[in-house]
Amino acid sequence: MSNKPANNIQDLQYFGEFGGVNPSISDSATYTFLHAKTMLDTFEGQAEGCYLYSRHTSPSNLYLGEALAAMEFTETANVAASGMGAITSVLLQVCGSGDHIVSSRTIYGGTYAFLKNFTPKFNIKTSFVDITSLEKVEAAITSTTKMIYCESVSNPLLEVANISALSKIAKKHHILLVIDNTFTPLIISPQKLGADITIHSLTKFINGTNDTVGGVVCASQEFIDSLRNVNNGAAMLLGPVMDSLRAASILKNLRTLHIRMKKHSKNALYLAEHFENDGLKVVYPGLKSHSDYELFKTIYNEEYGFGGIMTIDVGTLEKANELMELMQHNNLGYLAVSLGFYKTLFSAPGTSTSSEIPEEEQEKMGLSDGIIRFSIGLDNNIDRTYRAMHKCMTDIGIL
Ligand SMILES: *Cc1c(COP(=O)(O)O)cnc(C)c1O
Repeated sequence: MSNKPANNIQDLQYFGEFGGVNPSISDSATYTFLHAKTMLDTFEGQAEGCYLYSRHTSPSNLYLGEALAAMEFTETANVAASGMGAITSVLLQVCGSGDHIVSSRTIYGGTYAFLKNFTPKFNIKTSFVDITSLEKVEAAITSTTKMIYCESVSNPLLEVANISALSKIAKKHHILLVIDNTFTPLIISPQKLGADITIHSLTKFINGTNDTVGGVVCASQEFIDSLRNVNNGAAMLLGPVMDSLRAASILKNLRTLHIRMKKHSKNALYLAEHFENDGLKVVYPGLKSHSDYELFKTIYNEEYGFGGIMTIDVGTLEKANELMELMQHNNLGYLAVSLGFYKTLFSAPGTSTSSEIPEEEQEKMGLSDGIIRFSIGLDNNIDRTYRAMHKCMTDIGIL
């Protein structure tokens, strides 16, 4: 295995059943056995290369999982039907009644809602902390804590987690470090920095075409086996399984991820620098003004840049809405949640993806109403885009 994530994807060699250059798609929910004994062994997880039932594993899902594990430097991976399917399976696999989680307070709205409103039903408690304060993280750990959970680059404030330092704290307390790396595939390799489990929503950059939701858990063979265990595995029993046809299509898109990430990052940096020069309040980890700029430079795989997500605070929700509607009208992108598309997507996180977080908490964490989150697209001529966006901003009096 190379120590470059994109090389690891490139170096995988698959042959389809009839010599195809893409692996064959296994369009089956169940599988036959020539010998009854092999079926029993498969149930017990001992029959190498045998498939039982597609909620457990399927050849197409294993191909995709193998490629994502290669990208994340883990032993193996388990794909899921959505990012939330991956996240919730991990949380419920690791934690049970009486257990405790230390989570970043700036996480994806769905994950926040799950930890805040859903897991308490199972008597699992979560402390939400400022993940950039290592003292606060460590102080929140108790004798019942099972994991530290955060995003490598947080949604939507773009705080950068010091994964190496968090890993040292986790190891000291014998707990897991679980990282949601959705914003920074290829850019950050959490496993290399000491994370135990790396999760992605494949819906975003990795698939990149916004035609499906998907997720993955990248981890040790032991942990993935436990997720898939027929008796007590969360992935097997909750059943967030991806369909084989989707797994095959996501694998095809994964092969261009390195080219796309470089372009997303290059375009985002261009816009972030120009709009900051124009006097706007821009948050982007590639700007020297970003509080985690130096940290980011010590942890990233440099050739992929600082990512495709930036935010601009235009002051009020009214102005944010006016600008987004005008930019969409002028075909500069779509007013839509999600990220990682070929076209720019923009939304106001306070009223959309982070709306599960109560208003007073949003204020505490610096999530203002006027923030627009941009997922910058693959525009071939980004200066042309900049000029057109600039005109929208002058038209409504932001610039
Ligand atoms: C979108 C997203 C998720 C949830 O993924 P789905 O595929 O929508 O279930 C989780 N974490 C982050 C950071 C995300 O952006």
